[in-house]
Amino acid sequence: MSVFDYDVIVVGAGHAGIEAALASARLGARTLALVIKLESIGRMSCNPSIGGPAKGHLTREIDALGGEQAWVADLTGIHYRMLNMKKGPAVWAPRAQNDRIQYSLLMREHLEAQTGLDILEASVSGLLVRDNAVSGVKTLFGKEFTAPRVILATGTFLNGMIHTGKVSISGGRAGEPAALFLSEDLGAVGLAVRRFKTGTPPRIDMRTLDYGKLEAQPGDDEPQGFSYYRHVTPRNHVSCYITRTTEETHRIISENIRLSALYSGIIKGIGPRYCPSIEDKIVKFPDKPTHHIFIEPEGLSTHEGYVNGISTSLPPQVQDAIIRSIPGLERARIVRYGYAIEYDYISPEEITLTLETRKIKGLYLAGQINGSSGYEEAAGQGLMAGINAVLSLDGRSPLILDRSNAYLGVLIDDLVTCGTNEPYRMFTSRAEYRLCLRQDNADERLMPIGRDLGLVSDVRWQRFQSMLAAKERELLRLQRETCDQHPDLTEPVKFALLLKRPRITSQDLIRYGWKPSPDVDPGTARRIELEIKYEGYLKRQEEELERFRKAEGITLPGDIDYMHINTIAWEAREKLNRIRPLSIGQAMRIPGVNYTDTSALMIWLRKHKLLPSSPLREVTGA
Ligand SMILES: Cc1cc2nc3c(=O)[nH]c(=O)nc-3n(C[C@H](O)[C@H](O)[C@H](O)COP(=O)(O)OP(=O)(O)OC[C@H]3O[C@@H](n4cnc5c(N)ncnc54)[C@H](O)[C@@H]3O)c2cc1C
Repeated sequence: MSVFDYDVIVVGAGHAGIEAALASARLGARTLALVIKLESIGRMSCNPSIGGPAKGHLTREIDALGGEQAWVADLTGIHYRMLNMKKGPAVWAPRAQNDRIQYSLLMREHLEAQTGLDILEASVSGLLVRDNAVSGVKTLFGKEFTAPRVILATGTFLNGMIHTGKVSISGGRAGEPAALFLSEDLGAVGLAVRRFKTGTPPRIDMRTLDYGKLEAQPGDDEPQGFSYYRHVTPRNHVSCYITRTTEETHRIISENIRLSALYSGIIKGIGPRYCPSIEDKIVKFPDKPTHHIFIEPEGLSTHEGYVNGISTSLPPQVQDAIIRSIPGLERARIVRYGYAIEYDYISPEEITLTLETRKIKGLYLAGQINGSSGYEEAAGQGLMAGINAVLSLDGRSPLILDRSNAYLGVLIDDLVTCGTNEPYRMFTSRAEYRLCLRQDNADERLMPIGRDLGLVSDVRWQRFQSMLAAKERELLRLQRETCDQHPDLTEPVKFALLLKRPRITSQDLIRYGWKPSPDVDPGTARRIELEIKYEGYLKRQEEELERFRKAEGITLPGDIDYMHINTIAWEAREKLNRIRPLSIGQAMRIPGVNYTDTSALMIWLRKHKLLPSSPLREVTGA
């Protein structure tokens, strides 16, 4: 009988907390999820949308590992688009507009249905820590809960401060109280607490738009969802709309810039560069005469619409004027005003690749608390923290995905190895091996791992196996069977060779005599086409991956005192000591640790017989 109330406590039931709690309970741990407001479980604080470049990749990876986000996104999607289709397949990205209310309700339903998971509305105000190990949490009204593993997934709530114009109020999100005292407790146990900011635009009543002046942006003809083998058919229910800012909009913002919380000196935290407020866009890009605005419905049971592109902390009367200056929005009525929020986060250099803190055993951090931004980034970390917390309880090896097999690996490695000085979001450009890490093949990369863990059901696993078998058979047929009906051919060629031609698609092959197998669905057909067309590039990337894996394979003992290796530069020694890379590969990615430092480290390791005879040249390609 355990002396603890629970095995795992998850603080927060946002995107990170949900995945952490579900993974933990599904892996058999007695789990408690604590949340400030039950109604806010799975709430989308900003845009009710999942996916987009690199984020869609993350969502599909979460699904392949047995997470929840993709499935619920598919069940509540109202508008689907595959982005970047004019670019290469590495950056094609599924994106959905979701019904905000339904998304949150369904997530709550899934949590409530999970055996082994208790949910409680309570605000956590401190940690129970004994001998540098966590043993539970304290709540605001005094009740304590004990557990040997605690996952903090507190989002933007830690000492959250909401700003609109000159008015600032304490809050974790509009209408929800901030989490108080917990930050101070985290600082007191030695974790580095820092401050970021983010913001959100006003919402409008969709019935007050002049649709004649807006450009409709319908969903794709063949909508594609996120989840694998769940048999959800995505459907478009609404259209989105495009408009733009005008000279008048820019004038209003410039004239009122001192009223913005961001420009009046009230906000001190650093915001996301890639997702600037409208004030930032006008000030930082004065030569740009106009900026795109996307109007996105928030759901099927509401007329509320999200005005994507004008996140702001200007006062309400200025927001009214901005809206009226935009074509199609002249008579639009704001139903919620935009605001900015500042919040505490913990420097991600405080965690290891398992998301456990270095200083407090058993304490894991996931999501926005680690300095990241975005639902997908949060959900991915939550899933990994939930899995690793239970694996460590069971005394099993941790699950660490690396940069060669997942965006999730890139995300966590970037945060832990490089830290971040602005809210971190995922981009396809962050993944070196992105042609291999496509959104379409996340199942092949990760589902076997999810299955081994016990997070992928028998039904889904069987469907996956059938897909693999059908794909293999079709690939072989394409390589074996010959086409003699193409008008440009002087002699018959294999269908696979024909498909390699730039303008020929698998659909075109049908006109030239190809008979696709009935057990190959459209998604698998697209995947086969990509693998054939990009075979050469994929092979080259595989070679690069080999070099990467070698460097990752040279593991570093956890107890090296780098400060005593005086052949390494001082700054590099400090960084190595702080971050404690698991491999030479990870050491090479630490900013401030350069080639000479890793060479010196390899020589030192060899001298101390801690290294096999693998030369650095082989690892770095130098
Ligand atoms: C105003 C605003 C604008 C945003 N704009 C964008 C954007 O444009 N683009 C983007 O990518 N992301 C944006 N975000 C960020 C996005 O919402 C987050 O990245 C994402 O929600 C993080 O998920 P999370 O699970 O880490 O935290 P959250 O979704 O914030 O969930 C936190 C959870 O923790 C609970 N909680 C917190 N503290 C405690 C406590 N002490 N005790 C118990 N429960 C607690 C809360 O109740 C909540 O359930 C914005 C967020 C806000 C607030």
